[in-house]
Amino acid sequence: MEDVKIVADDLYFIQQPIRTGWFCGITVVLGADKIGLVDTGFENTPVDYIFPLIKKLGRKPESIDYVVNTHRDGDHVLGNKAIKEKTKAQIAIHKLEAEAVVTADVKLIDGNVVELGDRKFKVIHSPGHRPGSICLYDQANRTLITGDSVCGERTDLIRMDKAIYIRSLKKLLDLDIGILVMSHPFKPLGKSIVVGNDIKEMIVASIGIAENLK
Ligand SMILES: [Zn+2]
Repeated sequence: MEDVKIVADDLYFIQQPIRTGWFCGITVVLGADKIGLVDTGFENTPVDYIFPLIKKLGRKPESIDYVVNTHRDGDHVLGNKAIKEKTKAQIAIHKLEAEAVVTADVKLIDGNVVELGDRKFKVIHSPGHRPGSICLYDQANRTLITGDSVCGERTDLIRMDKAIYIRSLKKLLDLDIGILVMSHPFKPLGKSIVVGNDIKEMIVASIGIAENLK
């Protein structure tokens, strides 16, 4: 499955192609018993990508018990419906996004801790792309999942006051991060899964790009 990257033993990243050089990412966290998801992609993503991957790994889609949407945009939430049809999963999103997403059950705020697979992630409110954009931080594994919160050269995605976006990104610089997972291959790096020095570089570059906006 060339559309799947193995980030860690229990962390898989699906890249659903949208157009040349651009895809939409879904993170699958595989616990011993339960399976968590970060974002669900489009209407067809669960049936065409998520469930086949889980079955290929010898597991059942019905084990998906918790889903977090990083924000309200279609490429992150439209798969919720197919997840609900197949599983009993709870679907969580920041409270500022919840009204726009009828499939969401749980309203999150900054500082909440969610369990995905066998991992615990802290919710970090990171507005800028959307008012209720969030990042998920797994301190034990030094892993940060940002959705579209860090969007590099895609300045069209900074939909709020740029000062709000920049403040959110500066907050991320305080974290100890070994693996950064973004939903799309944002430039300047042009990839979704980032390790080592590139992490700080990506966040700092995104701040600089925003600061230079007129
Ligand atoms: Zn997106």
